[in-house]
Amino acid sequence: MYMSFLKILQKTDLTHIRNLIYSVTEQTVLNTLEKKHFDLKDFTVLISPAAGRFLEKMADLSREITLLRFGRTVKLYAPLYVSNECVNECAYCGFNAKNKIKRKTLTKKEVIKEAESLYSQGFRHLLLVSGENSRKVTVAFLGDIARELTKNFAAVSIEVYPMDTGDYKKLASCGVSGIALYQETYNRTVYKTVHRGPKADFNYRLSALERAGEAGFREMGIGVLIGLSDFRTDVFFTALHAGYLMKKFWKSGIAVSFPRFRAAAGNFKPYVNVSDKEFAQLIFALRMVLPDADLVLSTRENPGFRNGMAGIGITRMSAGSKTNPGGYTVSENSLEQFEIADKRTPQNIASMLKTKDLDPVWKDFDRSFLFE
Ligand code: SF4
Repeated sequence: MYMSFLKILQKTDLTHIRNLIYSVTEQTVLNTLEKKHFDLKDFTVLISPAAGRFLEKMADLSREITLLRFGRTVKLYAPLYVSNECVNECAYCGFNAKNKIKRKTLTKKEVIKEAESLYSQGFRHLLLVSGENSRKVTVAFLGDIARELTKNFAAVSIEVYPMDTGDYKKLASCGVSGIALYQETYNRTVYKTVHRGPKADFNYRLSALERAGEAGFREMGIGVLIGLSDFRTDVFFTALHAGYLMKKFWKSGIAVSFPRFRAAAGNFKPYVNVSDKEFAQLIFALRMVLPDADLVLSTRENPGFRNGMAGIGITRMSAGSKTNPGGYTVSENSLEQFEIADKRTPQNIASMLKTKDLDPVWKDFDRSFLFE
């Protein structure tokens, strides 16, 4: 019988973990880098400030592991924003209910038009994204869209609001095969400060991935917003959570995202700005401790950084993304959730990968693989 992750989190002292990370010495880093396999204790070493001085060695190890587990491949995906309506007031987000912006929820016809545009650009995996408003974007609506989109797309995932197991099961039966839900931060105090509305329920959000796992999703994505709290401690808990889900739901693939702050309506100032070097260190450390997890890098990051990280640790990238509902064809000027730093087209990204001797992967799954 598995203990819930909520219980594990309650039993793990955040301050103790933070102190462990910040007291690591260079000698401990050197000893750790000699190992063949890395556990969570090693992870506290790899994400420490002291390990930041061994970035090259970490990059080599991360590249080696990525090549061994994923070959020379990088999966491509694009988000399809269904709605920017949201009942929450997250201090850092442009879709915050208090922001006076034009709200839009696409109709089914509009979603299909957007999806057709992405299909024509080569995408076969879709991620449906929306603000959190279960009255505007209902479970029935999502299910209806998924049934339609899975006629052409190999995989449809959702990044919406947390749900009960029953609703997750309904969506799985409509063809939704993946779910992404980010905790934003594992620090309850910070979480409470920046969230208002239903999302302020830390425990309900934290346990959502376990409900999704019970519903049988093939893929589950987790992550924190890098810079919201102490980023090293937050990434430790992300790895702890990912490892837990991988063990408990061994049939599901786990993906980890780590969006860094970008400007959005509302002008929220992050707790800390994380440098490219620090960010790269987190990616390498995550690859070393979670060799089988997909590590995702979005278009929030600039082209130079994305080029550098592809294949070294990152195995999934968004491309040509619009973060506003209807952004591809329907309503190109509606408000975006955050600024895009990499504005290259999907074809440009695919070419960049090829010049690095990497294969861009548009499709890596087909429902006919499932024995139903
Ligand atoms: S982060 Fe998500 S839940 Fe929060 S305001 Fe933005 S869209 Fe809504």
